[in-house]
Amino acid sequence: MLDASHALIGASLAKLIPNPYLGLPASLAVHFLADLTPHWDFRTRKVKRSKAKIIFLSLSDAAAGMSLGYIIFADQVPLAYLVLMMFTAQLPDWIEAPYHVFDANFPPFSWVKRLQSRLHNKLDLPWGLVWQVVIVAIIVIWSLG
Ligand SMILES: [Zn+2]
Repeated sequence: MLDASHALIGASLAKLIPNPYLGLPASLAVHFLADLTPHWDFRTRKVKRSKAKIIFLSLSDAAAGMSLGYIIFADQVPLAYLVLMMFTAQLPDWIEAPYHVFDANFPPFSWVKRLQSRLHNKLDLPWGLVWQVVIVAIIVIWSLG
């Protein structure tokens, strides 16, 4: 999934599960569950991009999700917990990043890369984005309810 989606799911979980000992592992586990739903992200199609563009797209994606999560949840969840939960929800993708950016084809980066490739369910545009937005919206609205 987009890291924006992962961040918003993490933020919703921060609201739903105030206890960090339960919330943080749940946030990490839900990353893999979210990736199992058919989705589009910047790696759905093998597009050749420059390293600079990969870094720019990934950081924008991650930052957009954290900003949105902050706007929606800042007055409902303690800030440190909110940020930590959003970061944990994105964590496997952060660990995978050196594989893509620095060609770090060795553990733990290569392990996470292989695990994530196996678990990903890809679906191209537009439906891979439509379903993703619907799923994330339902989780966000449910957590606010
Ligand atoms: Zn992932």
